[in-house]
Amino acid sequence: MTKAKPLTDITPEQLVAGIREWVSLETPPNDVPRLLEFAELAAHQARQAGLAVELIPVNNTLQPLVRIRANSAGNQNSEQAVLVLAHYDTVHPVGTTERNRVRIESDKLFGPGTYDMKAGAYLALQAMAALYRERQPARPVELLLVPDEESGSRLSRATIEKFARNAAFTLVAEPARTGGHCVTSRKGTGEIRMTAIGVPSHAGTDHAKGRSAIREIAHQALALDAMTNYDEGLTLNVGRIDGGTNRNVVPERASLIADFRVVTQAQAERLLAAVKALTPVIDGVRLEIEANINRPPFERSPHVQALFERAQRVARATGFDLGEVPLTGGGSDGNFTAAFGVPTLDGLGAEGDGAHTLHEHIVVSTLPLRLQFLHGLLRDLAWDSAVV
Ligand SMILES: [Zn+2]
Repeated sequence: MTKAKPLTDITPEQLVAGIREWVSLETPPNDVPRLLEFAELAAHQARQAGLAVELIPVNNTLQPLVRIRANSAGNQNSEQAVLVLAHYDTVHPVGTTERNRVRIESDKLFGPGTYDMKAGAYLALQAMAALYRERQPARPVELLLVPDEESGSRLSRATIEKFARNAAFTLVAEPARTGGHCVTSRKGTGEIRMTAIGVPSHAGTDHAKGRSAIREIAHQALALDAMTNYDEGLTLNVGRIDGGTNRNVVPERASLIADFRVVTQAQAERLLAAVKALTPVIDGVRLEIEANINRPPFERSPHVQALFERAQRVARATGFDLGEVPLTGGGSDGNFTAAFGVPTLDGLGAEGDGAHTLHEHIVVSTLPLRLQFLHGLLRDLAWDSAVV
């Protein structure tokens, strides 16, 4: 493999200006007018680069998923695409840019959603545009800009999965990890909701007749908590408990919400079965249990390993060593594609720090290298190593 050609048609200054513009448009979850405004800007820029664009309202809402496509020379719909995933929503509420200006200090570009992940999304678009300008790819390259990833992609999931079914590879432009490392596995995430229904009574005159839902839910919270197994990478967190009405009433209802993280699908199934088999500890109390997996585990399969090694070769040709981080507890849209068996590599976006905080930033000087790497990787995959 020869050294990748440096990009000549976008300067570092243009790159920074483009990211600043994207960050300045705030995109909090479920804010339809702002999400639409952003989607239209990204769509306009992609069309200007000669790429095909479609705004897809997800799950019958007005929130658009932006599908950007560099068609292959053959332009066959049956061709398996290189799928690139990014999201353009952020966790930050409107007004964050007023309190926390988008600004550069020394080598850092600060702003809400810079690192997670407007910069990665912008790099992906520019890498794709650069590839397309150079030569029409041998297999289509498709970028999906997702509007609701920070809310678990509940609305977009079906659309993402539809395109993932026809993908040869998936690259996820979520934030790169320290040292520019990528992500090759992520835990699966799930949710448990449990309600206990007891028997209310007067806490003074009829205490013995009551069946306390709070007492029951406390037992269940401890049972769930005890399912955590750090050695197996399985965690369970009871994150919220509600219940009761007043000090002097034996409570009729109490409920809890828990989050769980698993390493493998088999582990998820065992855990779900154990949770659904829980029974009331107190006689006369009824339990309602809902337990589901939101994002399946992204397991480091041999396909993922092979894609990682390919990316390492491209990184070396670009001028750096690509490492991987150990299994991470946070999910991404890569979990959906990896669960289909599509070779998936994640954490390919910008370098920086402080995701989801007010000190969120990217490292400006690393942007050209990250763009060159992404461009090289797309070129490698879109041409099946024929041209690099
Ligand atoms: Zn993200």
